[in-house]
Amino acid sequence: MDFLKTLGIEEKNYGGSTGQQWLTTTTEGELKIYSPVDGKFIASVYQCSPKDYESIIQKANEAFIEWRKVPAPKRGEIVRQIGLKLREYKEPLAALVSYEMGKSLQEGLGEVQEMIDICDFAVGLSRQLYGYTMHSERPSHRMYDQYHPLGIVSTVSAFNFPVAVWSWNAMLAAVCGNVNLWKPSSKVPLTAVAVQKITAQVLKENNLSEGIFSLIVGKGSTIGEAMLNDKNIPLISVTGSTPVGKHAAEVVAKRFGRVILELGGNNAIILTPDADLKLAIPAVVFGAVGTAGQRCTSTRRLIIHESIYDKVKDSLLKAYSSLKIGNPLDQINHVGPLIDKNAVTIFKNALVQAEKEGGKVIFGGESLEGEGYESGCYIVPALVEAENHYHIVQEETFAPILYLIKYSGDVSQAIALNNGVVQGLSSSIFTNNMREAEEFLSAWGSDCGIANVNIGTSGAEIGGAFGGEKETGGGRESGSDSWKQYMRLQTNTINFGTTLPLAQGIKFEL
Ligand code: NAD
Repeated sequence: MDFLKTLGIEEKNYGGSTGQQWLTTTTEGELKIYSPVDGKFIASVYQCSPKDYESIIQKANEAFIEWRKVPAPKRGEIVRQIGLKLREYKEPLAALVSYEMGKSLQEGLGEVQEMIDICDFAVGLSRQLYGYTMHSERPSHRMYDQYHPLGIVSTVSAFNFPVAVWSWNAMLAAVCGNVNLWKPSSKVPLTAVAVQKITAQVLKENNLSEGIFSLIVGKGSTIGEAMLNDKNIPLISVTGSTPVGKHAAEVVAKRFGRVILELGGNNAIILTPDADLKLAIPAVVFGAVGTAGQRCTSTRRLIIHESIYDKVKDSLLKAYSSLKIGNPLDQINHVGPLIDKNAVTIFKNALVQAEKEGGKVIFGGESLEGEGYESGCYIVPALVEAENHYHIVQEETFAPILYLIKYSGDVSQAIALNNGVVQGLSSSIFTNNMREAEEFLSAWGSDCGIANVNIGTSGAEIGGAFGGEKETGGGRESGSDSWKQYMRLQTNTINFGTTLPLAQGIKFEL
């Protein structure tokens, strides 16, 4: 495949790098990567050893000592060049994202575009790492606050956004003066190897030292745990499931490290009697089946007013019947495969449990077999009539299952259902009624990190802070003032007078 060659992916690849240099350990086992698209072997990646980890950390610490002294706009210039390099490699990298992870080529292109956009965002940010000044209560004193870099920032990423999550963290962290260590998901390490090689070109062209952008592919139980426990890493950004994030938060808190947690969602769309269904139905279908339901922001629950329930159900049945399921590299298909066969089992088990609890599967749920479906990872997205309190509805099943939930009464009933889960990532309401929309956005409205009106739950723009509340973890990445999490805040007071007044009027005479 041409895109593998263009990206420098060999049949066997090393999994540890400090920039241009690769660690050559081959004794920790190989991750053999098969595509969920067609089941074919793509390439393999050697996992790193604990010794590799130590040497990567040592290089990263050395690099930080210099990188933090580089003026922020100059760091931004390196990020600008990474953005240009990503533009050059956009098509092959998107093809690999799609082939390794199984999302559509269009979504793969969108993911790489997101990397490019966050580079542009970070370049601008590199000239705006501002702090506040404030008036001192003491005469001839000046007070201000400023932000300094933290050190090694590590990104642990989930399989479903194999490259974008790294860039959200690494580009912001880099302009803030941090060095980066990336542990990608072991399900999709090839895209990470490809990105490391792209970034290394920029480092080489600028004669930059090793250790500014490092990669480590390895087991969660060894390399992942080493990172969580390592005082050399002041900040770890974990994107993944709630159990993994919870564990990370506990371990890192014990050593007073910081975490950014981007964990599971259980996102709902509310359809009120005033919803414009011409907008709502495509948004619901895209939200539920896009990326085969494997987005943290995928629509999992549809909260429908009883007066329009049957109409919505019929429209969805019609829309789902016209979905084309198949190779995601072929643009005619709407739905590609799940990441692996285990995900298919989880999908099927969830449907069995939903029925056990009283739900009714009204569409889909089958596995697809035969020509074009050889990987065994293709399924038909499911529609299930259910109630919000079912255990299975309360969980995030990372697959295209949409639960149809009926509500009666006013919008506050629907909001209570929206908020009636442990996760708090994304939420939407479709309504043309201003009062309903504003109540949904009010302090007593949606409790999620993302709340939208008349657009779906998935597909956030990088300009806004991204993340969620409750068991989604509370972290924020990307836009707004998320950059502050990658820095430490310092308050400075300067006395330019000739006396030493103490704060709070305290007297201390000698
Ligand atoms: P996962 O939790 O299985 O793995 C996430 C990452 O954690 C992987 O890189 C994995 O190797 C690593 N990991 C596992 N055990 C570890 C340990 N002990 N120490 C350190 N690292 C460890 O998640 P997944 O299946 O790859 O991704 C799907 C999940 O991610 C879903 O729950 C989804 O909602 C969530 N997600 C959330 C967001 C968000 O922004 N909120 C974005 C994407 C995905």
